[in-house]
Amino acid sequence: MKVCYPGTFDPITAGHLDIIERASNKFDEVIVLIMQNPRKKCMFTAEERKYMIEKCVKGNNIKVEIGTGLTVEYAKKLGASAIIRGIRAVTDYEYELQQATANMKLESSIETLFLIAKPEYSFLSSSVVKEIAMNGGSTDGLLPEEISDYAVERMKIE
Ligand code: ADP
Repeated sequence: MKVCYPGTFDPITAGHLDIIERASNKFDEVIVLIMQNPRKKCMFTAEERKYMIEKCVKGNNIKVEIGTGLTVEYAKKLGASAIIRGIRAVTDYEYELQQATANMKLESSIETLFLIAKPEYSFLSSSVVKEIAMNGGSTDGLLPEEISDYAVERMKIE
């Protein structure tokens, strides 16, 4: 089964990477889908985000794509039969439920499957990492090692 994991990944965190790796152990193919949302102001360009994800994913059943428009449409175009999303806390659940239900209405053949965050990553988001890095705090363990130096330097510039 081919699945896609859509998100903003601005930047990819250790929590995102854990979801990608766990999904790649369960499914034949995982496409990490960087969705470009013109209403969301990102720190990294889509190409920079793609570069960082590609630097840290290992499995040869993992691909990275940049998408625009509706996630389900893009997932369908890629031939994915399910969308993977991560849930950290109840606060994520309400938003994720709304998105998943809207996507179900748009395209009933694509299921949304949820993976629960590891406890050590349940507080972790790209925004938390940016806040810490921009204020000179330690991001040890929060970013994948392969991109940590690059991402931290880049975040300091902002
Ligand atoms: P979006 O803007 O689409 O929410 P994000 O990059 O913030 O994009 O997140 C993509 C997905 O990864 C979401 O389903 C989010 O809940 C999940 N996620 C984010 N951080 C973590 C984490 N630390 N552990 C598990 N899942 C996470």
